[in-house]
Formats: sequence, structure tokens, C-alpha cells
Amino acid sequence: MTKKARAQRIQAQLDELFPTVEPALDHRDPFTLLVAVMLSAQTTDKKVNEVTPALFALGPSAERMAERTPEQVLEIIRPLGLAPGKSKNVVAMSKLLMERHQGEVPANLADLEALPGVGHKTASVVMAQAFDVPAFPVDTHIHRLAWRWGLSEGKNVEQTERDLMALFPKDSWNKLHLQIIFFGRQYCPARSHKPDQCPICCWAFADKRRRAEASRT
Ligand code: SF4
Repeated sequence: MTKKARAQRIQAQLDELFPTVEPALDHRDPFTLLVAVMLSAQTTDKKVNEVTPALFALGPSAERMAERTPEQVLEIIRPLGLAPGKSKNVVAMSKLLMERHQGEVPANLADLEALPGVGHKTASVVMAQAFDVPAFPVDTHIHRLAWRWGLSEGKNVEQTERDLMALFPKDSWNKLHLQIIFFGRQYCPARSHKPDQCPICCWAFADKRRRAEASRT
């Protein structure tokens, strides 16, 4: 099976398994989404959703958040991983939004990535989920699944992102990245791989191996 055919079969299966997908981070506008995504590094979406009601009451907009101190933010987000750094970044990011963008979240990748604490993945999530611009944010889980499914040999998330963008239709990227995240959460246990029990890995991993062996002989 070619890589393209494998990608099509995987997409059809993901559509069957997860016909509708909603972003898991609670938010009410681009600013609160950006903050929530910044907080989600190395923690669960559930934990982020537990702290954001109080945080968004403290700073519901860039203007209000820019008036807060990192210590005030830290007091609320302390249960999350990397909380001290995230507190500083949320306040600094809000100040920069006020200085450069009249308090509005910019709808382009370069301006987003120039904000403190906003990397390429965070910026891509905001482009996809706040502005409905096609993007394929790749985290370590998507990176790993793309490798197991034989969709990318990428050594890093940037290469995997490029490979996935080339394989899947642009209008499916926003939905697909969520579907793959949902798949990983449901089927990938923390420790052992059991490919024969997974609806996609059971055939995709074997197919990838067959092709690799065939190309060696
Ligand atoms: S075999 Fe199971 S645990 Fe391993 S990548 Fe596939 S779904 Fe995840």
C-alpha cells in the first residue's frame, strides 16, 4: 500500500471513530484560547480547565491580564506543571498584545510566534481553533503515531508536520490533528504497545514493516 493510500484509509477510520471533535480546552475567545493553550504544555487539558475559570475572572482580556502580576497568576495556576514560567509568559504576552496589537490576538503565525511563551505548536493551534485557518499542530503524540503508522519518517515535529500536510487534504488538517490526539488518548496506554488490539496500528504498522522489508530485498 502506498503512503497516500495508507493515509486515506487512516483518515476514513478516524472519521468513523471520531466523527465530531471539539477542542478540549475551555475558552470563550481567541485570547482565552491562547492563554489556555500556553498553559497546556506538560499538563492535561483537564487540569488546565480546572484553573482557567479563576484565571479568566482575574484577567478576562489582554488589557486586564496585562495589569496583573506574574505572582497573581501563579497563585491560580500553581497546580500546573512549569507554573512559574507560564505565569511570567501569560502576563508578558498580554502586555505585548497591548503594545503591538491593541489587545487583539493576531491572526497570523509570525506575529503569534513573536509573543512570549508562544511556540510554533501553540500558534498553530490558535490559527486552527480560533481563526479556522488550516494548520497541523504536531505534538510528541502525533509525531509518534505518524511514525508508527508509516506516514512520516520525520526526526522532529517540524518534519512530521510537513509530511502530514503533504499527505492530507488541507481542509481536513484542523479536524485530523484533533482526531489523532483523541485516538492517542483512547488507544495508547502509558506503557506497553499492543498493536494487534488497536484499530489502526493493527494493520498500518504491519504494512509499514512489509514495505520496509520489501525495499531492502
Ligand atoms: S500500538 Fe497502541 S499504544 Fe502503540 S501507538 Fe498504536 S495505539 Fe498507541
